[in-house]
Amino acid sequence: MTARRHPRPVVPLLAAAAALAASPAGADDVTARARALHREAIVVDAHLDAPDQLADKWADVARRGATDHFDLPRAAEGGLTAPFFSIYVAAGYAAGGAARRAFELIDLTRRVVDGHPKEMVLATSTAEIRAAKQAGKLGVLMGLEGGHAIEDSLGVMRELYRAGVRYITLTHTNTNHWADSSGPFYEADFDPKRYVVHGGLSAFGREVVKEMNRLGMIVDISHVSDATVDDVLAVSRAPVMASHSSCRAIADMPRNLTDDQIKRIAAAGGVVMINFGSTFLDQKTWDWLKTAAAKIRPEWIRLRAKHKGNPAAFAAATTALWSGVGARPRAPWTKVIEHIEHVIRVAGEDAVGLGTDYDGVPDPPIGLEDVSLLPKVTEELLRRGHSEARVKKVLGENFLAFFARVEATRARLAKEPPSAAVYRK
Ligand SMILES: [Zn+2]
Repeated sequence: MTARRHPRPVVPLLAAAAALAASPAGADDVTARARALHREAIVVDAHLDAPDQLADKWADVARRGATDHFDLPRAAEGGLTAPFFSIYVAAGYAAGGAARRAFELIDLTRRVVDGHPKEMVLATSTAEIRAAKQAGKLGVLMGLEGGHAIEDSLGVMRELYRAGVRYITLTHTNTNHWADSSGPFYEADFDPKRYVVHGGLSAFGREVVKEMNRLGMIVDISHVSDATVDDVLAVSRAPVMASHSSCRAIADMPRNLTDDQIKRIAAAGGVVMINFGSTFLDQKTWDWLKTAAAKIRPEWIRLRAKHKGNPAAFAAATTALWSGVGARPRAPWTKVIEHIEHVIRVAGEDAVGLGTDYDGVPDPPIGLEDVSLLPKVTEELLRRGHSEARVKKVLGENFLAFFARVEATRARLAKEPPSAAVYRK
């Protein structure tokens, strides 16, 4: 989940249809190889925001168009094996009800999966992802987005693990009581300094990370500040992941990772899962957003004061304000490939995967509008000369190997007692 408060652009269905129609006509050796490889491969998406959309507006996922970017027919066309449904708890819940929201979305995810037992199964481990593939089902995992949803309690965190959650994004756009966030980059008066409270992780935040390692809960550093990344890498006993972040070297925005961060995450056995939002992919889109934000900033600040204490009214007013600045330019889909190749160049072929942020971003790239189009990634990587083994790594094997290392850390720490650390103001 990134910036849902932006108006959603109309998905150009014609472009998607044209791309699909074009492939049989241009079918050649690579196309055939790509199809076979994609069918065989385990395809992991580390961040899919369908639950939040379904909570807003319930729909049967068997029906095409159930959410913006996901449903079972499109997931089947896309060859998707294992999406992490995001248990996204918005920053606003930090004021109250965050854990409740998390458990409601876990319940929602289970209802979705239970409603389609022939097509879907809940997965909580590498073995269960592989079993789902064998059974020809979509293996749905859960990742909690927004560390404030543990409500500063390691007991709540352990219950989330028992409920099936397998990663926690330490912060969303809000700095919580124990970790600094990179902040809400899409707000017109965004000032990163306002989100620096602990200078990274607090002492309790370090306990949270260590307890996550013991549990086998993946530590996700998407959304956190650069100082928090440093602290996490210093304290974590397991490798860590960025579930939906791309490369700052290509699109220089705060939610993306520097080459140095990518290298250190990879050196520790972690993975970087590429975000498909145009703002994350393309410097042009990011520059457009910055220019537009500067234009609306005075009015934004006025609205913030006017609607103080009424976040719903403020959200509605700023959405209207954004819609007045015109359509955000979208990236070409091949930018996704550039980011994948960049991580491979900087940190090697074992460090990269996919974390689309579908249903969470308003601006997927032109040509990769939803999950049904994922086979294009496979075909393009092959076309650019990447080996079949490498393409399988990018699609899912890198994530599985990483998750296995997190599971191995859990096994190694099995004798350690649960942490008794308690948050104090
Ligand atoms: Zn997010």
